[in-house]
Order: sequence, then C-alpha cells, then structure tokens
Amino acid sequence: MLAMMLMMMIGCGGWLLFSAREIRDDGAPRCFNCSYLLTGLTSDCCPECGAEITDETRHLAPPAETSWPRFILGLLLLLGAFSLAVRVFMPELIRN
Ligand SMILES: [Zn+2]
Repeated sequence: MLAMMLMMMIGCGGWLLFSAREIRDDGAPRCFNCSYLLTGLTSDCCPECGAEITDETRHLAPPAETSWPRFILGLLLLLGAFSLAVRVFMPELIRN
C-alpha cells in the first residue's frame, strides 16, 4: 500500500518534471530563435528578433519553454516521496 503510494508519487513527479519542458508545436511556422509566429511573413528576417529566416531555419522547432509550476510540483512530489521513503524504510538515518 505504502510502496504503491511511493511509486505513484515518484511516477507523477517524474512525469511532471519530464514534461515541464515542452515544445510548442501547433504546426504553425515559428521563429527558431524566439518562437515568434511567422505565418504570412514575406521577408527573410524575423520581425521580432531579427534572426535570418531561411527555408532551412523555417522548419526548425522553436525553443522549448519551461513550465515552472509543473517543474516545482514535480520536484516537490519527488522530494516528498524520497523523505517518506527514508522515514519508512531507513528510520535510523534520521534518528541521530
Ligand atoms: Zn525571432
């Protein structure tokens, strides 16, 4: 029962951490440098950051964004699971 709870905490925490960095992929062309939306752009420069837009860079994935609430929640879950595991399975570690 407790082991199952620990597994779930670790699983959820790990998943949250892992998915905290997400690449915004809505299929629309975006600047590879600043992820500015490039739909309808006719020039060769990103109007937002000035990066050169070529056919090659046009199809690069935009930078991944970190979702900090997700990251922190995942970290807290993992830390909670860890401290719970120490308390339950290795109580002698925190006794002295
Ligand atoms: Zn840009």
